[in-house]
Amino acid sequence: MNQNTQPVDTVHDVVVIGGGAAGLSGALSLARARRDVLVVDDDRPRNAPAEGVHAFLTRDGVAPRELTRLGRAEVEGYGGAVASGTVTGVRRDDTPDAPFVVTVTAPGADDREVRARRLLVTSGLVDELPAVDGLAERWGRDVVHCPYCHGWEVQDRVIGVLATSPFAMHQALLFGQWSREIVLFTNDSFAPDDEQAEQLRARGVTVVDGPVARLRVEDDALTGVTLADGRTVDVGALAVMARVRSRAGFLADLGLEAAEHPAGVGTHLGTVEPFTGRSAVPGVWLAGNVTEPMAQVVAAAAAGTMAGAAINMDLITAEVAASVAALRAGGRVDP
Ligand SMILES: Cc1cc2nc3c(=O)[nH]c(=O)nc-3n(C[C@H](O)[C@H](O)[C@H](O)COP(=O)(O)OP(=O)(O)OC[C@H]3O[C@@H](n4cnc5c(N)ncnc54)[C@H](O)[C@@H]3O)c2cc1C
Repeated sequence: MNQNTQPVDTVHDVVVIGGGAAGLSGALSLARARRDVLVVDDDRPRNAPAEGVHAFLTRDGVAPRELTRLGRAEVEGYGGAVASGTVTGVRRDDTPDAPFVVTVTAPGADDREVRARRLLVTSGLVDELPAVDGLAERWGRDVVHCPYCHGWEVQDRVIGVLATSPFAMHQALLFGQWSREIVLFTNDSFAPDDEQAEQLRARGVTVVDGPVARLRVEDDALTGVTLADGRTVDVGALAVMARVRSRAGFLADLGLEAAEHPAGVGTHLGTVEPFTGRSAVPGVWLAGNVTEPMAQVVAAAAAGTMAGAAINMDLITAEVAASVAALRAGGRVDP
């Protein structure tokens, strides 16, 4: 605790760290289970640069922050609380039944600490974009990573695939479902073997070798990819697999640290029970992109729902055990 940190003021059944689709869905289940739940969120959802959320049944095309606004209102409608702020640390002490102390930092206010019986971590990830001039500004618009999110919107354009790793092979074949004109920029990051080269030829993919330097943008639209040797190749969209980094440094004191994801796409926090999101640290659950970088919004929301239910049951199990112990000790039980 630093000098300006206010002492722990409140104990919650569950503190949810991150209020995107995963966190708000978990919080909704918990609030409806009549749990005292606090969501702490600093409002930087991963898909914020995109105009709309696609492939979310009944909400297709909704703006990312409209989705979270609606989600917050639903959580609050059942008595859950949502606070703006960044969780900067979590420590554990030996307080029975409520061992987690969460430090929350918010602009213009002293740090404050809240105590939780259980934690649901849904803080998402950061996409680390390749250092190509002009690329970051187009991210989520005509520079994209996921055809299920954006493929429909860029269909039938010339779609470039910028290699940052061998994963580019997967993207080059996949995006062919949305356009017959795919250009794979190997970008000194990927060299197809003979079998892959044959597959690319069979799929009609054009392969362009050499490092990529910058994007050409005209009238606020991507129109080309310029290589370091000065050549420019016309494209109307560019697919890029960014390396992902889970946003979870604040968990280090609990012993939960990011590790390489098995798909080789970056880092994530692993679970010991993927179906519920239970982590290796008792009392801590994970859901959404912080543990599964491939999860789209609807999958992140589903994971949050499962984790919320699992946490509620874990609390019930602890409460029953405490009541049984009290009964055996001849004490009074308040069911
Ligand atoms: C450009 C782009 C477009 C996309 N388009 C689509 C699409 O059309 N359809 C689709 O299904 N998927 C899409 N996705 C994927 C989508 O972004 C993820 O599936 C989704 O965001 C995962 O939800 P989440 O709740 O796990 O994480 P997030 O939505 O990223 O939410 C995490 C939340 O936690 C907060 N947070 C993080 N750290 C802290 C902290 N220390 N303290 C407090 N708060 C914290 C963040 O500010 C954020 O609000 C897109 C992704 C990108 C990059």
